[in-house]
Amino acid sequence: MGGRIIIVGGGFAGVKCARTLRKLLPPEWELVLFNRENHMVFHPLLAEVVSATVQPKDVGAPLRQLLRGVICRAEEVTNILPEGKRLFYEGYDGQVRPMHYDHLVLTCGNTVNLSLIQGMDEHAFPLKTLGDALALQSHIMEQLEKAEVCENAAIRASYLTFLVVGGGFSGVEVAGEINDLVKSSARYFHNFQASDIKVVIVHSGKAILPEVGENLRQFARREMEKAGVEVKLEAAAAKATKEGLRLTDGSLMKAATVVCTIGTTSVPLIAKLNLPKNRGRLVTQPDMSIEGMPGLWALGDCGAVINSLDGNLCPPVAQFAERQGYQAAKNIVASIHGLKTAPFRYKMQGQLCSIGGRSAVAEIMGLKLSGRFAWFLWRGIYLMKLPSFTQKVKVGIEWACDLLFGRTLAHLKADRTRRVGRAYFGSGDIIFKQGDPATEFFVIEKGEVEIIAELTDGGSETIAILGPGDFFGESSLLERALRTRTVRARGETVCMVLGRNVFNQISAALIPLKDAVARAALRRTSMWHNVPEVRTILSRLTLTHFLEPLPMPPVSLETSVETVIADMEKFTADACYVVDKEGALAGIITRSDLLSALEKAPLADPDSDLPVTEIMVMHPVAMEADEQMTAAIATMRDHDLKQLPVIDGAATRKPLGRIKIEKVVSYVLAEMVGRQADSQETDSAENLHGKAITGVKARKTRELASHARKTLEI
Ligand SMILES: Cc1cc2nc3c(=O)[nH]c(=O)nc-3n(C[C@H](O)[C@H](O)[C@H](O)COP(=O)(O)OP(=O)(O)OC[C@H]3O[C@@H](n4cnc5c(N)ncnc54)[C@H](O)[C@@H]3O)c2cc1C
Repeated sequence: MGGRIIIVGGGFAGVKCARTLRKLLPPEWELVLFNRENHMVFHPLLAEVVSATVQPKDVGAPLRQLLRGVICRAEEVTNILPEGKRLFYEGYDGQVRPMHYDHLVLTCGNTVNLSLIQGMDEHAFPLKTLGDALALQSHIMEQLEKAEVCENAAIRASYLTFLVVGGGFSGVEVAGEINDLVKSSARYFHNFQASDIKVVIVHSGKAILPEVGENLRQFARREMEKAGVEVKLEAAAAKATKEGLRLTDGSLMKAATVVCTIGTTSVPLIAKLNLPKNRGRLVTQPDMSIEGMPGLWALGDCGAVINSLDGNLCPPVAQFAERQGYQAAKNIVASIHGLKTAPFRYKMQGQLCSIGGRSAVAEIMGLKLSGRFAWFLWRGIYLMKLPSFTQKVKVGIEWACDLLFGRTLAHLKADRTRRVGRAYFGSGDIIFKQGDPATEFFVIEKGEVEIIAELTDGGSETIAILGPGDFFGESSLLERALRTRTVRARGETVCMVLGRNVFNQISAALIPLKDAVARAALRRTSMWHNVPEVRTILSRLTLTHFLEPLPMPPVSLETSVETVIADMEKFTADACYVVDKEGALAGIITRSDLLSALEKAPLADPDSDLPVTEIMVMHPVAMEADEQMTAAIATMRDHDLKQLPVIDGAATRKPLGRIKIEKVVSYVLAEMVGRQADSQETDSAENLHGKAITGVKARKTRELASHARKTLEI
């Protein structure tokens, strides 16, 4: 009598388990293996893919060729019902289908947890899949190419800085490989030398490679530093941004490349299983079965398996995963035959870590080895461990070639400009600088940015503030020109980022977007053209000059619309400011907002208790009192505002008052008329035809005033 065994995950544990089961079970037993990709990834060689020593395809073994007699399905399992012995998978057509099992072996591994550190998801490179390794390799080569043609020394230095977060095995291996790649490539470039390139390991602990003995640890550090890798210890990453890596001590390490090798979490399938877990891994019995769930097994990185040899939790490494795969297969067969299963028991064979520069450290069966010999051993062992014969031959040849010839500098350009992504920026981070190439279009989801004009005298001027829902970066994209302005985040800011191609495709197809973008571009560039005098007048002034108190005391988020209406009547206020628990500005309601809400919402109902949050303008753009009026006017025009909240600071956002456009208009007109009158007096005293000229000037004054009103009026 047969049945069906399903394995979810085609990694080290799953492949070994499937191979062993196929050998031990008769063909009546159907073996199905689900794996998202159609290949198994040999993670220990991913760093070599990054450094172009090994071809990506040779690190992925096709499961179909590896597992004869096993039904391989390159599909994702989306849910499991252990009580009903059923799982659900997403088929080729996107439909979710069920499948029954007699035994289910979970070997889904784990996944990178980039959310551990703010901004990593958007700005750092993980290293878990072949795609990750390829993207990183391509990015590194792109940075060298950019550095070659970049004339700005500070930007070039950022292109040539590669930060690796984490000083464990993966961090050390990838830092060593990146260092080898970039330093050996430097001789083909003219604009920089190997000594200009920085590869830095940023590690929060006191020493790198905490898993190995003290001597080997020190050897690894010494050798890496000799090869030019900087090791920054007791340095914890706080957030990654487009500019680089900010540490918890507040310092910023500027770099165009941040690689994240720390933080793992359960894959979604395991995370949603309502079963006991230990650090995100499924708690198993000593034989790797799950208590109370007959036929369910978990092993590899997704199982919290106790090693009965020493009573410790097995580490999430390949040699344990593989051994568990073998043992689990034997236990499944034993349980099918009604025999006793065996607890997992394994003595670690040793640890190997390549540190770059054809050097490695190794602890094998009590022997501590380091240097060139350890490196040859490292290569020999991993060559033997590659799952297929074809891989062994191909990787062997590639390694031999690597010893004889240089590495290829060609890189497959994964066209990142086609992406739609999300970017996180910390307060004060530069999103792009005036003169940068324009490759992306940004839409603000959260936070605020300021648009800055870099002046020829070396100074700079903030010319507008943009908030949620606003976009920027369009004009240079449309004109295929360099950035004409610098954009800086004013607080924690999240933007949706569209690559140039995506932007062009969408704006070509979506006419309203194209129009809005064109209108904004015109508004922003032509603002002061007609009356540069308005700009001259306002550029001397800050918001303080026009600051007036709020029309009524701010209300809390819980206030009802009814109360707001009553209060606005009481204070004869034209607007109501809403603050959160900390007193930070959360929204604004103007009389027109109220009117349109009254038209739409059933406010006539006397029992209606509509909260103010339902109708207010959320997180309105706001500025500080000491900022420039030119920026305020540009901001008000951009947002179609007649009043602008003034706050105490970007972090606290407590409302101090507001500026109103009428007051600004009156001031500017009075100033302009005054100037005009002054110049008329001088002219008439000097000119015989004073009267005629005065007439012309009066007309000009009227024209100017009308232009000024248009410029300022929203
Ligand atoms: C860069 C790097 C270097 C490493 N170097 C070493 C090393 O030198 N030595 C060492 O011993 N260990 C190393 N490791 C750790 C080692 O790779 C893991 O411990 C090992 O891969 C775990 O094997 P596994 O079978 O549990 O999971 P994995 O090998 O991760 O395989 C899990 C598979 O399950 C698939 N999967 C997940 N969810 C689903 C789903 N819902 N449906 C279908 N398929 C799914 C995944 O796509 C994946 O293919 C390294 C890891 C990394 C990331």
